[in-house]
Amino acid sequence: MKGVGPRRAADLRHAGLVTVEDLLYRFPVRYEDRSQFQTIASLKPNVPASVSGEVVSCGIRPTRRPRFKIFEMLVRDRTGSLRAIWFNQPFLKDVFRPHQHVILFGKLELNAFGLQMQSPQYEIISEEPDEGTGTPGTPGTDGTPGTESDALHVGRIVPIYEKTGTLTTKMQRTLVHQALQTLPSALPDPLPAPVRRRQQLIDRRLALEQVHFPPAGAPVDQLNAFRSPAQRRLIFEEFFLFQLGIVLRRRRADAERKPRAVVVTDATREAVRRVLPFKLTGDQKTAIREIVTDMQRPQPMNRLLQGDVGSGKTIVALMAGLVAMENGLQVAFMAPTEILAEQHYFNIRRMLEQSRFRITLLTGNTPAKQRREILAELAGGSIHMVIGTHALVQEDVAFRELGLAIIDEQHRFGVLQRATLRAKGLHPDVLVMTATPIPRTLALTTYGDLDVSIMREMPPGRHPIATTARPESRRDEVYAFVRREIEAGRQAYIIYPLVEESAKVDLKAATEMADHLSQEVFPDFRVALLHGRLKQDAKDRVMNAFVRGEFDILVSTTVIEVGVDVPNASVMVVEHSERFGLSQLHQLRGRVGRGAHKSYCILLYQSPLSEQGRERLKALTDTSDGFEIAERDLALRGPGDFFGTRQSGMPTLRAGDLLRDHAMMEDARREAVAALDDPEQAAALTTLVNTSWEQRFGLVGIG
Ligand code: ADP
Ligand code: MG
Repeated sequence: MKGVGPRRAADLRHAGLVTVEDLLYRFPVRYEDRSQFQTIASLKPNVPASVSGEVVSCGIRPTRRPRFKIFEMLVRDRTGSLRAIWFNQPFLKDVFRPHQHVILFGKLELNAFGLQMQSPQYEIISEEPDEGTGTPGTPGTDGTPGTESDALHVGRIVPIYEKTGTLTTKMQRTLVHQALQTLPSALPDPLPAPVRRRQQLIDRRLALEQVHFPPAGAPVDQLNAFRSPAQRRLIFEEFFLFQLGIVLRRRRADAERKPRAVVVTDATREAVRRVLPFKLTGDQKTAIREIVTDMQRPQPMNRLLQGDVGSGKTIVALMAGLVAMENGLQVAFMAPTEILAEQHYFNIRRMLEQSRFRITLLTGNTPAKQRREILAELAGGSIHMVIGTHALVQEDVAFRELGLAIIDEQHRFGVLQRATLRAKGLHPDVLVMTATPIPRTLALTTYGDLDVSIMREMPPGRHPIATTARPESRRDEVYAFVRREIEAGRQAYIIYPLVEESAKVDLKAATEMADHLSQEVFPDFRVALLHGRLKQDAKDRVMNAFVRGEFDILVSTTVIEVGVDVPNASVMVVEHSERFGLSQLHQLRGRVGRGAHKSYCILLYQSPLSEQGRERLKALTDTSDGFEIAERDLALRGPGDFFGTRQSGMPTLRAGDLLRDHAMMEDARREAVAALDDPEQAAALTTLVNTSWEQRFGLVGIG
């Protein structure tokens, strides 16, 4: 493309823009109406405005604080002049110079200097003042035609792109404009005509053009809300393709037949009842009924069990496992860590003591000789249930007849490992369990191809965890409280954030904290440290010692997040709680309150908290309902941050936003189902999915 030299090409590649399509599908993040500029004389404080003018002077203004730099610029149009300032961006001195024609966009504030714009977004239109600078309706209002470049960047509604590397919004605008010229006048359209008609969607070629260069007079508010006809069309297209893949995957799964569905007799029911250590909650009963109904069907189960920490998912999984074993089928139960696998193993073995079933544990720590014996017995069928870690998905692990695969805490596993475990059986039933509630708005995306059981009810006798937020200035009070609890015989967690980019620094902080606590604050208590850099067996040793009560205080990074049970631990202090995600904090605090004692979670934060920070901590002190917290978390952070990684099963979207556009996702789902039901369209759409879906959306979905 014109104007793309090797350096620019490298920048483009770096930004993930390799093809013309990449460029065209990188949509503007917002739009600015530059068909009409406000005159400087007419500006009002506290309202965002865009101004077009000439740079009069600019430079770094000295301040008293040596490391604090203010870049200041004076801009004028025909009606007056305006000051703009930026903090700590000294490089701007190489960007601006007098006489440039610039556009500034930002909010105005009134202070001692008069009206000024603070850190406005900017664009340099040309190195010389424009003929029409400052006159409303630049350029060419004086009758001279504007240059091609002017026509792109001013005098119309212009797209604003996210800046990446050295690629400014203006360069992107120019490149996109060129790319659009190269497009043929008609493009193939993946959306079937009836779908387009029903959803009132415009043509694809037109949409691509207008999403970048909206027609004159288009409502800018609608554009900035991503609801223009062009945006709707392109978002729908993406969601439709996505749902086609999900629906097809679901249909393929439903077409499979397992070798043997389970049969439930009175004897099965009696065997299950005998094992039950307590009365099930209503939600547990419902979940078990849903699971066992699936297991009796000819097609394999693909079910997700969602239940907050402590809602009692393990017993539900065990009941399903018993039904499978009563039917002569084997069960694999996979947990994300050694400690969890062991805990499940000891609990389940205790509950099944009186039964005839043989249970075993298989982890990375299992000695080689024992491992060989276990593998032989699994293949021979004399072991009925194996509980373990990733060790279960190793190549040489084979079953005689695997009927049910249970996967605990699904977010810790990659999609691949789930698929591998499934492949160990001939279409076994799969039950995935998670304690991270998935907000309703994300449901169609994250588990669109799974059936879902939800448990919101907690087992009886559980006290809610008393959660409070405290500034660090009240640390002494917090320590005094911890001391009282330990003196009463309890144990405490003190949690440190571990942000990946600065793992070393944080680790140092956690280590120093542990030293400080054990030497100065709690010299009379036993303090241990647990973090992710420890080898697995060192971690297990520390954790097991804490479970046995050999330590009073466990200082830890978030490695303890997942399901470990220490009923005697009654306090958790979270350092720098403002750095954690809400759902993560909720998971963390679920580590306490697992015994008979009243439990506490204290969220220490660094003052001052931002408005959002305050809201976030308030969500946690307000409610102990993980589902509600997940909804609030999503609303505060947006779906990208909510899950963090791609591993979590979120697709890479380039047009749509799961939160903003979730109603469209529901429409897309309905249309995808209808289109695949229509024999005239189904074949072409299936081919489309087979050739482009994985590449387009990545490995998505659970199991
Ligand atoms: P999670 O859903 O977090 O995995 P668990 O299965 O570990 O929860 O259960 C948490 C605790 O609650 C366990 O100690 C378990 O024995 C207990 N529990 C589960 N269901 C019930 C119930 N219906 N009545 C009493 N206690 C229960
Ligand atoms: Mg659990």
